[in-house]
Amino acid sequence: MNNPWSSAKKQLKQVAKIIDLDKNVLKSLSQPDRVLCFSLPIKLDNGRTKKFLGFRSQHNNRRGPYKGGIRFHPQVNKNEVKALSMWMTWKCALVDVPFGGGKGGIKVNPKKLSDVELERLSRKYIEYLSPYIGENKDVPAPDVGVSPQVIGWMLDEALKHGLTKAVLTGKPLGLGGSQGRIKATGQGGFFVLDELNKNINLKKKTIIVQGFGNVGYWFAKIAFENGYKIIGISDSQGAILNSEGVNPDQVLEYKNQTGSVKNFPQSKNIEADKILLQPTEILAPAALEGVINKNNAFKIKAKVIIEMANGPVTPKAEKILEKNNIIVVPDILANSGGVTVSYFEWYQNKNQEQWTEQKVEEKLKEKITQSFNQVWKISKKRNINLRMAAYVLAVSRVVDCRGYLKSNVSNFEK
Ligand code: NAD
Repeated sequence: MNNPWSSAKKQLKQVAKIIDLDKNVLKSLSQPDRVLCFSLPIKLDNGRTKKFLGFRSQHNNRRGPYKGGIRFHPQVNKNEVKALSMWMTWKCALVDVPFGGGKGGIKVNPKKLSDVELERLSRKYIEYLSPYIGENKDVPAPDVGVSPQVIGWMLDEALKHGLTKAVLTGKPLGLGGSQGRIKATGQGGFFVLDELNKNINLKKKTIIVQGFGNVGYWFAKIAFENGYKIIGISDSQGAILNSEGVNPDQVLEYKNQTGSVKNFPQSKNIEADKILLQPTEILAPAALEGVINKNNAFKIKAKVIIEMANGPVTPKAEKILEKNNIIVVPDILANSGGVTVSYFEWYQNKNQEQWTEQKVEEKLKEKITQSFNQVWKISKKRNINLRMAAYVLAVSRVVDCRGYLKSNVSNFEK
């Protein structure tokens, strides 16, 4: 089975060679600063008590408070949160926001709990974590399976424990959230894709999106509105194809009514995991990690894979894709729009400001376009793939803030 933690460590090792990273620094970056694994007993509606497993991994805070989402999913485990927390460290450094890396989650299928049970569990999680989080310590946000309602309960619990509203980002607008946060990850991904396309000039602009949650929907919607063609979409229940293209808003409306994209009118149904193997110029995995691996990478027909999810391409798969000249836009760049606008939200909360949606969008575009162009330049100059280029920039920024690196970060940024 794919182990994201070993993927994350492998990627770090690869970049350590390129930047000639000191062995002790590599060793220190290869472990999170702290990993909390805890049991969360809650009372179920039937009167019984059930324990759920909770996690929070704090990878690195050299550049600022730990930052990273909370995931509610049955597959959540220690290796997964460790990997995701390390990726957050690099992502925050890459887009140059003053945060480190963290990630958390609960091993649970939230769809199987009643609202009351889900509220108890969400509150219990924050109650447990309250000594370890804070606006200047560790700032969680929503990830897979965590709705705005859950964030609302979490915020209420955090406030009861003396924390401030800047302790959480991705909040609903009425609770101190930022304009533009909900679409930020998808929007940032689109800015990256469009900037890439200025360099590679894709003609058909066809896109297949795997996963139609927050990230997948917004990415598809914004791309569609900007002249790209969405020819396939999947969710956990099934997948649809339509070579003429579909309108993501209509697909969402249908999914909201029926529970899935499956059977969307005038489209062909296929099995969910077959969507990755269909012909398209752009493939956007926007669900979970490890979905493109050594078993299917050689069958991928896309020209560009834009990693909207975290860690969807394994290191072994990446080698195969590289041989086949498929460009992979790494997650730490492609989906960094979310944490960038989370930073804007945190900043607005701390400074009692409220930015307009237009301001958020402009600032996001500026930051993410700049990061893309820096990564592109490093990739061309050093003849390395985009992931390694992004890592070179991100890891050297993390290390350089402590003055560890022999050749300092400015050398990589030129
Ligand atoms: P979400 O819960 O809103 O959506 C996840 C979607 O994936 C759902 O539509 C689900 O049906 C689908 N899915 C699950 N298993 C699938 C499968 N096997 N095949 C096809 N679809 C499947 O979650 P999200 O917030 O959109 O996050 C998606 C990914 O993006 C995750 O990897 C997350 O870590 C990453 N990410 C999210 C954000 C953010 O701001 N939400 C930011 C950065 C990265």
